[in-house]
Amino acid sequence: MTSPRLDTATIGIISAEEAHLAHNYHPLPVVIARAEGSWVTDVEGKRYLDLLSAYSALNFGHLHPAIVSVAREQLGRLTLTSRAYHNDQLGLFADALAELCGKDLVLPMNTGAEAVETAIKTARAWAYRVKGVAADAATIIVADGNFHGRTTTIVGFSDDPTARDDFGPYGPGFVHVPFGDAAAIEAAIDENTAAVLLEPVQGEAGVVVPPEGYLRRVREVTAARNVLFIADEVQSGLGRVGYTFACEREDVVPDIYVLGKALGGGILPVSAIVADRDVLGVIRAGEHGSTFGGNPLAAAVGLRVVEMLSTGEFQQRARALGEHLDAALQTLVGHGVTAVRIAGLWAGIDIDPAVGTGREVAERLLGRGVLVKDTHGQTIRIAPPLVIRATELDWAVEQLRVVLQA
Ligand SMILES: *Cc1c(COP(=O)(O)O)cnc(C)c1O
Repeated sequence: MTSPRLDTATIGIISAEEAHLAHNYHPLPVVIARAEGSWVTDVEGKRYLDLLSAYSALNFGHLHPAIVSVAREQLGRLTLTSRAYHNDQLGLFADALAELCGKDLVLPMNTGAEAVETAIKTARAWAYRVKGVAADAATIIVADGNFHGRTTTIVGFSDDPTARDDFGPYGPGFVHVPFGDAAAIEAAIDENTAAVLLEPVQGEAGVVVPPEGYLRRVREVTAARNVLFIADEVQSGLGRVGYTFACEREDVVPDIYVLGKALGGGILPVSAIVADRDVLGVIRAGEHGSTFGGNPLAAAVGLRVVEMLSTGEFQQRARALGEHLDAALQTLVGHGVTAVRIAGLWAGIDIDPAVGTGREVAERLLGRGVLVKDTHGQTIRIAPPLVIRATELDWAVEQLRVVLQA
């Protein structure tokens, strides 16, 4: 963990943390103390460009003034009521989010995994109450390489051994197909199929973009066979790929949007599923909920996030900056990089094993003031805040070039 360039304050804080913190993460050796926009500052005052944005939870950057101000204002008035009572923020948030999605109803939760669980429950209830599937027979089709969160149900249909192994027994009712193959979905659908659950772009898998036409074909097949299409847009949605939703890349509208991460404005966990009344209307009072879901602080922040997205400015930035980043990253292919996958301002960069592992490259970039995250051994993943400047991206790519040559 410790390396010579770490100062004593940093080493002290990391050792103290390791004494009593479960080892479910392996963070890079940097201790962040403050941040603003695209930049973070460590305990010794060193600055780093944040190219991860907390896995897209910080799409608007750190401490965006418009989000912080609404959060501060709400903190002075009301933070939590539980859904046992109404609060004066939740309805406004639900209206705005439903309109952004072009759907009727919103069910608010907190984390992405909870929203995925909510979508699973909704799809099953819809299968029994609307479609007429026999009791407890409903299935959901999922893709190989998926990442939908960390609950026991969700890891049960992961095919990543690190996420899944030793956490069984796993819940039944999930059918795997290869990602990017719509014909496999068509073949897997039977009378018990409630839904197809997909990430429109697989984030955790390393920014895996499906072949052109895939989402359109999935939409056609699910509509024709009376199966719900659930799009897990927790990471791909809310501006990241240059559109409000990654499904818009193919002009596709799913039955259920699953949203999270950036919905909380980088301040607190806010998630939701959004669907029309004929789907989400199946959930009756008392059947599902969350103590914190829809709390007024979350709703005020979520409302501001939706307002910021409704101008299209951030989506446009992501698209333009993504093209800029793509051009810069392509110059590294064959020079320490074996492949680049990109969707909007979101990239998976495969590192040539001759240069090192993804983790090693991430550590070397840390030494040069750039924060990224490795995934699956040889890949580094970047998802810069959408407020980043083109010149900052250029500088970061130059640091990567130096690191790859070293
Ligand atoms: C991060 C993520 C989740 C889980 O969100 P949490 O807030 O960590 O529970 C679910 N789906 C996708 C696609 C994600 O990227």
